[in-house]
Amino acid sequence: MKLRISFEFFPPKTEQGFNHLLEHALLLAKKSPKFFSVTFGAGGSTREGTLQAVKMLTNKTNIPVAPHLAAFGMAKKDIIDILNTYKDIGIKRLVVIRGDLPQGAEQETGDFKFANELISYIREMTDNYFNIEAAAYPEYHPQAKNSHEDVLNLKRKYEAGANSAITQYFFNPDAYFYFLDACNKEHIKLPIVPGIMPIIQLDKLIRFSKLCGAEIPLWLLRNLEAYQNDTASLQSFGLEVVSRLCERLISGGAPGLHFYTLNHSELSIKLLSLLRIETASPLFL
Ligand code: FAD
Repeated sequence: MKLRISFEFFPPKTEQGFNHLLEHALLLAKKSPKFFSVTFGAGGSTREGTLQAVKMLTNKTNIPVAPHLAAFGMAKKDIIDILNTYKDIGIKRLVVIRGDLPQGAEQETGDFKFANELISYIREMTDNYFNIEAAAYPEYHPQAKNSHEDVLNLKRKYEAGANSAITQYFFNPDAYFYFLDACNKEHIKLPIVPGIMPIIQLDKLIRFSKLCGAEIPLWLLRNLEAYQNDTASLQSFGLEVVSRLCERLISGGAPGLHFYTLNHSELSIKLLSLLRIETASPLFL
């Protein structure tokens, strides 16, 4: 089965965190992903950490790296500096998002209000040099006026020059398939790759889901709650649920899977084994 697989990391804050990330990235590199991605704190809060993680992964693995770049709070000049740095180290792919406003932040800071504006600017300044991934929301973005407006927003990102999209995570495959239908109706000709969240810890999952507006279906939540502090059983049940989700997505035509690893390799690797996705290729350092 030929699918586009990618793994997302966040930039660690400590040397120990970087060592941990490298250890897990090397294990995931054996799965021959199309790319690793590294998140970027809105307003540039992780600018240095993201660059450091991108450099480390570029130098120590044979996998292309796609840094995220968040529009919020950034001046055009900062964007040019960052793009030049990435060009210098051979980066060819970016994940371009708006980012989330830090609590209490003024909305008007920076030169870009929405992700499509940053995508247009990158295209204007660098033509087709970068392959650009945009964000998509099968359960719709929490700030969207309505579902149709959010689909039109993805269309704006497509028309601004995005090459493909990665979705927020979700647990209901129908959300994805209905979203694809809505995008088709709007002639959005982007591969839309589902974002997959392995279930590692219930409290974190609940917190993230509240923040990003992803639904944990009641039946799933109640089952996960029943494991209380039995992390091993919770993860094993979560693995079953998420692998069934992935099976349905793949059999319904999803072009790939993007794993939100939270800097852990184990569950993503187990999921790939359960799904029998072709991987094994030697790792060259
Ligand atoms: P946009 O596309 O700008 O949309 C934001 C909201 O504004 C939506 O509700 C949209 O419908 C609405 N909107 C857009 N344009 C208009 C308009 N012209 N008029 C009215 N409404 C409009 N966050 C980070 O901080 N760092 C990361 O590294 C990061 N990586 C991510 C990776 C993926 C794959 C995904 C799915 C999300 C990621 N996020 C990240 C989270 C993301 O930044 C937030 O979800 C953010 O709130 C929206 O980003 P966006 O790029 O979708 O924004």
